[in-house]
Amino acid sequence: MNFASLSLSKSLLRSIEAVGYHEPTPIQEQTIPHALTGKDVLGCAQTGTGKTAAFLITVINDLLKHPIDVQRFAGEPRALIVAPTRELAMQIEKDAKVLAKHTDLQVMSVVGGMNFNRQQERLQNKLIDILVATPGRLTDHLRRGSLKLQDLRFLVLDEADEMLKMGFADDLEAVFEEVP
Ligand code: AMP
Repeated sequence: MNFASLSLSKSLLRSIEAVGYHEPTPIQEQTIPHALTGKDVLGCAQTGTGKTAAFLITVINDLLKHPIDVQRFAGEPRALIVAPTRELAMQIEKDAKVLAKHTDLQVMSVVGGMNFNRQQERLQNKLIDILVATPGRLTDHLRRGSLKLQDLRFLVLDEADEMLKMGFADDLEAVFEEVP
């Protein structure tokens, strides 16, 4: 299988090529075609096998194929990626920006240990397509009303096992309650 055979959007294929991915890794080959049909996917593979790009390619392609033609509001992302640590969330944000480089999709992260008010201001003033977040900070923003999840098309739980081990089950439950 190659990326071109997945009928991905041209702007995404351009980024995939620019970043130097010549063919999908096994986890990408197994998950992307399935997830692109709108089905839920649970992917298990070791670090370094290309899981991040597997869900980012799916999310970016889906958002590009389903543009919103009604009025949009700030603080209402269309895809939410939750990850256990600030470092991981920021790495995902960086990867997402690289893959979305030739699109007009807006990527942002809200993670703990960073200025809350600045994040809130950005959430309240800018359109966001893909939000990457750590669980605690995410629920803080939901409680404060700076973030609304009713327009979500995608929810990704990266390293879900790790998030449960770290005691984030209640935070994740609170997120699930807000998801359509
Ligand atoms: P991850 O498992 O998400 O931590 O990814 C590990 C590394 O694999 C990252 O540096 C990615 O840039 C790289 N990578 C992801 N997909 C591919 C691919 N299809 N071909 C080559 N490298 C890839």
